Amino acid sequence: MPKYICECCNYETDRKSSYDKHNISIKHQKNLQNKNKPKPEPKPEPEPEPEPIKPSIEIKDKLENELIKKFILFSLFMKLLN
Ligand SMILES: [Zn+2]
Repeated sequence: MPKYICECCNYETDRKSSYDKHNISIKHQKNLQNKNKPKPEPKPEPEPEPEPIKPSIEIKDKLENELIKKFILFSLFMKLLN
């Protein structure tokens, strides 16, 4: 059974000299860095944008009717003036 284990590299050795050598190796440093790196947080789902409040079709129709009425009245008024 190996005495020296580097868990982050899955490296095992019986010899301390090898272990020391491993500990200063670039490969080990990289693995160590990667292990210590905080995991990037999963991006939260973007919230769906709230739909702009639209007047219901009924209200829209009503408004249009009002406009038409006003326009007709205005036209009649103009005719009367002339
Ligand atoms: Zn290592």
